[in-house]
Amino acid sequence: MTSRRIVRTAPVTPGAVPTAAIWAFRERLDRAGDHRVWTGTASKGTTPVLFHDDTVYPARRVAWILHHGAAPVGLVKAGCGVRLCMHGPHLTDDVTRQRERILYAALHGITLAGPCTAGTHELAEYGYVRPNRVTECRGCDNARRRTKPLEGARAA
Ligand SMILES: [Zn+2]
Ligand SMILES: [Zn+2]
Repeated sequence: MTSRRIVRTAPVTPGAVPTAAIWAFRERLDRAGDHRVWTGTASKGTTPVLFHDDTVYPARRVAWILHHGAAPVGLVKAGCGVRLCMHGPHLTDDVTRQRERILYAALHGITLAGPCTAGTHELAEYGYVRPNRVTECRGCDNARRRTKPLEGARAA
């Protein structure tokens, strides 16, 4: 009989993470000022992953759910600039990041609403404003990236 361990990826949704895994998660946090820095495994050095009981959990998602009690939208990132920070209030998801873009635009007197210039995306959802006050669309950015992989290198 081989003792090769099979590691499965667990879905992380509110209420789905076993208590023992949450304890294991908490044990891997180090307090550093206002931050809680991950001391566990980090995939590619940037993505915290929790291994517990032959199961791997995306650790930032666990941190998000413990803080908010609801699932994040899209990728969870550390918004505070500390690479492996897992402090609940410092984490961002697609919704909070877009909310910040809308606030930033408002500070520049720009309302992100209505369709983008291509007419395909909602600016409230995809719009952002550059420091030079030009409104851009992440939806169009993503579409450009998908259709022009390398030749998009414009002369600077
Ligand atoms: Zn932080
Ligand atoms: Zn667009």
